[in-house]
Amino acid sequence: MLVVMRSHATPAEIARVVETIAGLGLTPHPLPGATRTAIGITGNTGAVDKARFEVLPGVEDAIRVTKPYKLASREMHRDDTTIAMPQGTVGPKSFTVIAGPCSVEGEGMILECAAHLMSRGVKFLRAGAFKPRTSPYAFQGMGLEGLAILKKARAQTGIGIVTEVMDVEHAAAVEEASDIIQIGTRNMQNFSLLKRVGQCRKPVLLKRGMSATLEDWLMAAEYIMAGGNYQVILCERGVRTFSDHSRNTLDLSVIPPAKTLSHLPIFVDPSHGTGKRAYVPAMSLAALAAGADGLLIETHPTPDQAMSDGAQSLDYPALDALLAQIKQLAPFFGRPV
Ligand code: PEP
Ligand code: MN
Repeated sequence: MLVVMRSHATPAEIARVVETIAGLGLTPHPLPGATRTAIGITGNTGAVDKARFEVLPGVEDAIRVTKPYKLASREMHRDDTTIAMPQGTVGPKSFTVIAGPCSVEGEGMILECAAHLMSRGVKFLRAGAFKPRTSPYAFQGMGLEGLAILKKARAQTGIGIVTEVMDVEHAAAVEEASDIIQIGTRNMQNFSLLKRVGQCRKPVLLKRGMSATLEDWLMAAEYIMAGGNYQVILCERGVRTFSDHSRNTLDLSVIPPAKTLSHLPIFVDPSHGTGKRAYVPAMSLAALAAGADGLLIETHPTPDQAMSDGAQSLDYPALDALLAQIKQLAPFFGRPV
């Protein structure tokens, strides 16, 4: 249920609705909008009686939300969500590029990469300190030492850090080191981890599970939002299909329905989506044209020597060329970069 307040509703009237919801043993989620506040209600197992809210002063309407995901749904929140960070705002009026290596491989390369990205106007560095690898014998990431390196890169350059949390145990350390917390494809339905990042107060980049439907994905976002963390960014990174010409099948067709059903921003990761660096530029531009709000691009100073995902990583000249194309194309879609 969504309680929509009148545009001139007073703070006291809003507070009364919040108290009434809490008094019923339910959870109120005040959602300030451009012209009016709406208050989402979760926690009910059966139908909530609309009449209880319609009679309260300042209430315009009480609307039933038909989708199983509530806080993530466009029914609950008509306006697109924008997320303001010191490095820039994520949302429909901007196009955010996050770039960097798959893994933190050492201090020198991360500091140098952060400086390079900032010099090119890229304000967010991605790099995993905890790596979910298919093989237990593959490089597992530098762990806490890697997080310390990321913090140093942020302190030196002001770049925003995007890094993955793999388990509840390291959630506090990852939250401290990051500006955006990444949940990887393999953990999209790790419900204890989703609940844990729901307690964090940093935005969460939620990658789509490699065999998740849009509804599964939005329900995963709902887990995070139900904990009070409303800053969720969806990230399409390719799904498993019969195709073997690319590592995954980048499902750009999910963007328009995701935008219809949800108000959350959506990014695209063309690196994991294709697995081959040659295909990354085309899919990046296609993502922009399809309505994505940003990109997550693996970049490495020497991709052929990368400790993970080198085949899909751009070198710096290739990233520079792609950034130049994005700069030209983005304003056409109303997204100056
Ligand atoms: C990554 O971003 O390096 C990564 C492991 O991504 P995914 O979870 O999409 O495989
Ligand atoms: Mn990777």
